[in-house]
Amino acid sequence: MATTGKLCQGIDCEKPAKLQCPTCLKLSIEDSFFCSQECFKKNWPTHKAIHKMGNQAETTNPWPGHRYTGKLRPHYPLTPKREVPATIQRPDYADKLDGAPGYGPGGWASTKISPMTDPTDLKNMKLVCKLAREVLDIAGRAVRPGITTDEIDQIVHDACIERNSYPSTLNYHRYPKSCCTSINEVICHGIPDRRPLEDGDIVNIDVTLYHNGFHGDLNETYFVGNVDEKGQRLVKVTMECLEKAIAIAKPGTLYRDVGAVIDKHARSNGFSVVRTYCGHGINRFFHCAPNVPHYAKNKAVGVMKPGHTFTIEPMISEGVWQDEQWPDEWTAVTADGKRSAQFEQTLLITETGCEILTRRLPDSPFSVPTILQ
Ligand SMILES: [Zn+2]
Ligand SMILES: [Zn+2]
Repeated sequence: MATTGKLCQGIDCEKPAKLQCPTCLKLSIEDSFFCSQECFKKNWPTHKAIHKMGNQAETTNPWPGHRYTGKLRPHYPLTPKREVPATIQRPDYADKLDGAPGYGPGGWASTKISPMTDPTDLKNMKLVCKLAREVLDIAGRAVRPGITTDEIDQIVHDACIERNSYPSTLNYHRYPKSCCTSINEVICHGIPDRRPLEDGDIVNIDVTLYHNGFHGDLNETYFVGNVDEKGQRLVKVTMECLEKAIAIAKPGTLYRDVGAVIDKHARSNGFSVVRTYCGHGINRFFHCAPNVPHYAKNKAVGVMKPGHTFTIEPMISEGVWQDEQWPDEWTAVTADGKRSAQFEQTLLITETGCEILTRRLPDSPFSVPTILQ
């Protein structure tokens, strides 16, 4: 029955073929014909790669049955993992299968805070934070209706490489992208995908760079086109929460007191504070001690001392503080589907106060609502 006129897809086999691969049939991949079961089996190791392409049909429903809390959906497939040139210094987790960073003494498992004392280390820490600010600003300027978060990820990735830096999130605990993009009800850790930004969205871009052995981490929430007044107020109050927290950052301040300041300002404006995700120590490690909760009455350990480097990054929600996670095991969303905003800076405690290492530059793009200032 050589009526198909097809030739076998087997390597170096040009026999007439009538058997079609059942998996390809299911995935509507055409022209997968083989001359015989034997030839099909023999070619299986190379042939099966084709099924991936079929599985990667564009979809906004990769997890059938998942109950979403809001309107946002993932836009799959994700683009392939971006490459970082071999000339750029990589953190230890960059090439590990599990993406788990190695921790020495003073690592995440420990509550011991290691102050930065070496002047060269400090110089490198300041440099990576400045580079991270430059990259975030480039990404922020690209925000507009129609651009996809994956395109923003490409911009971040390229800007990191131009600065001889590794995008710290890439492969960190197997995170697949070079930054986080968190839209509307996404609290944090949104994965850049094929969804175009829409007029009225708010989007947080979180960028971390690794350069000369140190990490620098910051994020901001941007408006996409025209955002309603409540959304603007949420973003403004979130930014103020961070400012008020930074204002108490100095030697002698207890880490647990940061949350009280943030909580008070958020609540008095009718918003709530996310509890699951916290600020963190940052230096040679992406995340280490101290742990810096943003809510009141927390039990954070430690006192701020000169040389401490850490982030404060309040996530403030329109509705409830509770969060849940998408099945991708990253995307954190509000439990009620209402919006959440975030701002983050990396700080250094000095003898007299603190230095915002990722501070805004004179030309940093404005994410602050002008009509509400
Ligand atoms: Zn952070
Ligand atoms: Zn961050």
